[in-house]
Amino acid sequence: MIGGRSRAQVACPVCQIHAESVFKIEGMDCHEEVVILEHRLKHLAGLESLSADVIGQRLRVTYDAARLSDDTIRHAVAETGMRAWLEHEEPKASLSGSASRSALAIASGIALAAGFLVRLAPIDPRWSLLPFAAAVLTGGLYTARRAVSAARAFSLDINVLMLVAVAGAIAIGEWSEAATVIFLFALAQLLETRSMERARHAIRALMDLTPGEALVRRGGADERVKVDEVRLGELIIVRPGEKFPLDGQVIGGESQVNQAPITGESLPVDKGPGDEVFAGTINGRGALDVRVTRLRRDTTLARVIGLVEVAQAQRAPMQAFVERFARSYTPGVIALAVAVAAVPPLAFGQPFGAWFYRALVLLVISCPCALVISTPVSIVSALAGAARNGVLIKGGIHLERAGAVRSVAFDKTGTLSRGVLRVAGIAALNGARPAEILRVAAALESRSEHPIGEAIVRHARTAGVEIEAAEAFQSLPGLGAEASVAGRRAIVGNHRLFEARRLCTPEIDARLEQVAGDGQTAVLVASDDRPIGIIGVSDGTRGSARDAIALLGRQGIERVVMLTGDNRHTARAMARALGVDEFHAELLPEDKVAAVEDLRRRFGSVAMVGDGVNDAPALAAADVGIAMGAAGSDAALETADIALMADELLRIPYALRLSRATVRNIKANITVSLALKGAFLALGVAGLATLWMAVVADMGASLLVTANGLRLLRVR
Ligand code: ADP
Ligand code: MG
Repeated sequence: MIGGRSRAQVACPVCQIHAESVFKIEGMDCHEEVVILEHRLKHLAGLESLSADVIGQRLRVTYDAARLSDDTIRHAVAETGMRAWLEHEEPKASLSGSASRSALAIASGIALAAGFLVRLAPIDPRWSLLPFAAAVLTGGLYTARRAVSAARAFSLDINVLMLVAVAGAIAIGEWSEAATVIFLFALAQLLETRSMERARHAIRALMDLTPGEALVRRGGADERVKVDEVRLGELIIVRPGEKFPLDGQVIGGESQVNQAPITGESLPVDKGPGDEVFAGTINGRGALDVRVTRLRRDTTLARVIGLVEVAQAQRAPMQAFVERFARSYTPGVIALAVAVAAVPPLAFGQPFGAWFYRALVLLVISCPCALVISTPVSIVSALAGAARNGVLIKGGIHLERAGAVRSVAFDKTGTLSRGVLRVAGIAALNGARPAEILRVAAALESRSEHPIGEAIVRHARTAGVEIEAAEAFQSLPGLGAEASVAGRRAIVGNHRLFEARRLCTPEIDARLEQVAGDGQTAVLVASDDRPIGIIGVSDGTRGSARDAIALLGRQGIERVVMLTGDNRHTARAMARALGVDEFHAELLPEDKVAAVEDLRRRFGSVAMVGDGVNDAPALAAADVGIAMGAAGSDAALETADIALMADELLRIPYALRLSRATVRNIKANITVSLALKGAFLALGVAGLATLWMAVVADMGASLLVTANGLRLLRVR
């Protein structure tokens, strides 16, 4: 945030028009450039705030549109040697910048080689100064431009330091050294820009998934229309093999859809009338008629990308630590360099030239870029890699937390179980008729969103039961629901609820145990405080649940736990079948929170996996909340720390593995860059390191950590 503007400039607050623009900034590769930009922009009249995202090369500016325009901002950015364009504009010839930089670097390399050849030739070696000078000029042009804007912002960035080092080398007559240093620096910076591009591209590639046009049926004819011009509710036709341009609902046709781009699922999913389809997924063999339900910027894919971009712009704790360290490291090393140049010659009569040279080496080493860049590159690679596999991680902090998870708690219904329930049997109590039981239960459940409710309503429909209206419906989370049906008070729910209402009898208890023993969920139904029946509901476990749980154990998760609001007997049967370490049954939503907190006390960091029905508080209470089936649910996508786009439990061990790998990767990167810096600091002071060695070490470290970070794109 920029503060301290002159208040006198602020016009009448009513006339202020707040605007926000997001610029892409070419050339903003390191934290130092952000400082430069802030310095240049903060004096613009009407500016309100700035926030920069280095990896996304994005600058978010809020301003008073009455006094400041996008164009003014763009010009101001141009003055720093960087280039800005509005995010939704086409970048104009963005290649030219890096193409001319490459050309200059190549020219510098040729001149450098020529210099060394001249030295070998049987002519006066002073002729070599010419090619060396040419190498410095060509290789240093870009650096010099950047250095000037940095110096204007009173920032000692790498370009300034390099320029000082090169000028110093020339001053003591080390022309070949100066030329080598500047060439290597130009080359390394180019390579670094390239590898940053790859990290950036990993996210942008997600966006390229959607086609630009859609085939729309308008007034009986089909026409190709730009996706942006398609309206909500219009009918689009998606031919076999085509990608879906927008989210929608199938209204005609049958096909199999490859949803891998969004959910990471490898098998195609059957789609027919009524099913939801997502932009970016790929149609199989059948043509589908689709009613558009979401415009381009609201599609599931667009939201995923938006969330990933927001996620990567957030600072993870490790990143904040590194940046704090860098802020004192650089001035520290520069102070050391000044001392090395001044103290030995002045105080001990040592030769000035040799110690000055050592000081120059230290200047090169003082740049913290390798250190500062390593963490965000690792995080972006991990986030992008995860997104490709249908796992949405909402920020570096969640990666760090997930890397430390010691126990995992699963919700049962809808998470470990498929949540596609089926009525398996109906038992009558107190002489009621099964049709009567179903009539009461279905009327009430038609108002509920719980998967159990859906199963009962579906069953009633197929059984031909007419579904009456229910009034005064109230959901009792973790227990059941109540309402008034045909003037009578109906209650539907579990044993705990009937206990609380004092409706249980020994007979009911015995019948319940029988139903639960079969692994079914027993749903009690009462009408006017008289229990009338028990509906047994069964639910298949997810195919991969057992494997996922076993894998977690093998990955060193100490405790895998099942938490459920369901009956103890049903829970036990399922817990045995799945091989969880422990289970807790008959929990209310708040009991699930307590169970999560208990796990944290016993084992440390906890991840909670749920579907958002009756377990949202527990998801929030856990260190990492993981939501299932986010492709279909906005709420899960927005609130979870990690969202699985598909209902694929094996993605959980993957996400935890990736998180650990990321934490390890970042730590390795920090260690390597600090160790290299340390070693070269010592060698530099001792006079054992040359300038070009320092450049190679510095840039080598940057490239090494970036390459290491990019490996996370491929964790499986
Ligand atoms: P889980 O923790 O297994 O995901 P929930 O917390 O969603 O289950 O529900 C706990 C229990 O509460 C269910 O097993 C069921 O017995 C009862 N219940 C909740 N909602 C309903 C409902 N709408 N109809 C019938 N029973 C319900
Ligand atoms: Mg549930």
